[in-house]
Amino acid sequence: MTRVLRVMLAAAGSRAPQLRSTLWYSVAASAAQAAAYAAFLPLLVELTRGAPRAAAVWTWVAVIVGLVVAEGVLRVAESRFTYDHWHEVTEETRLRLGEKLREIPQQELGRRAAGDLATVVGANAANAASGASSLATLFVQFVTVPVVLLVVVLVVDPWVGLVVLVGFLATLPLLRTVQRTSLRGFGEVDRADAASAARLVEYVQGLPVFRATGQAGADSPRLAAALQDQHREMDAVSTGSDRAAAGMQLVVELTLAAVVAVGAVLVLAGDLTLALFTGIVVIVARFVQPLGLLPEIAKLFENSDASMRRIRDLDAVEPLPVAAGGRAPDRFDITFEGVSFRYDGAGEPALREVSLVVPERSITALVGPSGSGKSTVTRLITRFADPQHGTVAIGGVDLRTLDPRDVVGHVAVVFQDVYLFDDTVRANIAMSRPDATDDEIERAARAANAHDFVSALPQGYDTEVGEIGGRLSGGERQRLSIARAFLKDAPVLLLDEPTAALDVESEVAVQRALTRLAGGRTVLMIAHRLSTIAGADQVLVLDDGRIAQRGTHAELITERDGRYARLWAAQTAGRAAAGEADGA
Ligand code: ADP
Repeated sequence: MTRVLRVMLAAAGSRAPQLRSTLWYSVAASAAQAAAYAAFLPLLVELTRGAPRAAAVWTWVAVIVGLVVAEGVLRVAESRFTYDHWHEVTEETRLRLGEKLREIPQQELGRRAAGDLATVVGANAANAASGASSLATLFVQFVTVPVVLLVVVLVVDPWVGLVVLVGFLATLPLLRTVQRTSLRGFGEVDRADAASAARLVEYVQGLPVFRATGQAGADSPRLAAALQDQHREMDAVSTGSDRAAAGMQLVVELTLAAVVAVGAVLVLAGDLTLALFTGIVVIVARFVQPLGLLPEIAKLFENSDASMRRIRDLDAVEPLPVAAGGRAPDRFDITFEGVSFRYDGAGEPALREVSLVVPERSITALVGPSGSGKSTVTRLITRFADPQHGTVAIGGVDLRTLDPRDVVGHVAVVFQDVYLFDDTVRANIAMSRPDATDDEIERAARAANAHDFVSALPQGYDTEVGEIGGRLSGGERQRLSIARAFLKDAPVLLLDEPTAALDVESEVAVQRALTRLAGGRTVLMIAHRLSTIAGADQVLVLDDGRIAQRGTHAELITERDGRYARLWAAQTAGRAAAGEADGA
């Protein structure tokens, strides 16, 4: 009982005081309800006297009516919480979680699937709030009414009261079983829900690939398995708690039967009047009714508690600590000193004692086979996570002394994949600086070679991306992303070879925009194709998390047996072969 209240008050967040008064209304309303039933007893006794006194009869009728009206009024006050605060509680929880998502380490975000997070912020937040609003009052009602009636019966006839008390106590372990199985069960259900939501997001995102490979439809084994698992967990909760609930219903019916039997014996012995006997049976029938429904409530409560726990889990994720002594960097070179980094849960480190310098206003290219650690280097520059050893610094300032949100302010990124939001082209560019004026947005678009194609769209900058999403070419999407970077105007620029997936024609336009963007900034570029490296001031060759070679392109190709020379040879050979094939 105290746990239920504690959980509910926690779920109500800043509305806990309102919930507290709501619960008092609920207690009062339930007490009035129970008292109305109790008042039925003296009325019955009066009516069955040899000569009923009209005044007494009407007094009791008035008391009953008064109590019923009082209950009604109190219930209205009680339901105010549901109407007034339910949405506020949900919204508050969601806003808090949203804020949390902004500050938790990117690594943690990456670890949790998008669908999983959506479940916490969406369904779990709503569940927790509905638990706090409607369940808490139901629970109070379903406990208060039986307790008041039990006291009444005990006073009227201790023997019958004892029978009811025994029945009441017998239901408690069963109720506990329902709670325990549901508690465990709903934890599993929530886990399964989150997993299937994650698989669903993954499936939808992967649809183009599934289509291309002819797998769309029933053939997503991961999704199917997750859905089956979800179904199984739901079934398990139902069967587990349903059995206990059925047991409880049986105890409740048996209690009623025992009351009738004991009452009959007492009536026959002349120790109980027929009127009181009838009244007690009515009261006990009313008493046991909520007990029969308690398992349902307990189940709903556990569901809401499971949601709360998932919310608490997310709440408990700490943002990366910000060490003292940080100052805003006043220059923008990037340095790694003996940086080793291992992803959470990974066996091998992704980076091993990497030291590098990207001088201010210069371009450094990172090359190396897939999995060699190139993306990890760029991630650490945005304070994705802190390295286990060594330091990463911008302008000589250790990133650990800077708030990750400030770090991100100094860094613009352009990736191969451009994510466009379902909003206007203008809003999509302004993503990187929501307070930008239309003028600034247009200037950024011009700099990114995007203005011409944007102007040619049906509503220009106000065209909804959703409506034309499929019509934007890869190069056009890429230029929108470059426009974002121009608008942000950050001194550090991270590029994950944005032209890698483009056709030659788009590549030229994007490359020109990129060259303009790179001017005067500190640029670190992941280069998959060696041809894009020619303009770099420095090339770093990564292999298995280590820097294997460094120098300029010209220096590295002359190192005969170096990795870079081999990569270069392989790529130029490939290109020559492709060129010959084209020519043929
Ligand atoms: P590259 O960009 O050169 O392809 P990455 O930096 O992405 O290489 O990866 C370096 C290593 O770290 C790889 O072994 C990869 O499997 C591992 N890795 C990358 N991202 C994660 C992650 N989120 N969790 C665990 N391991 C990861």
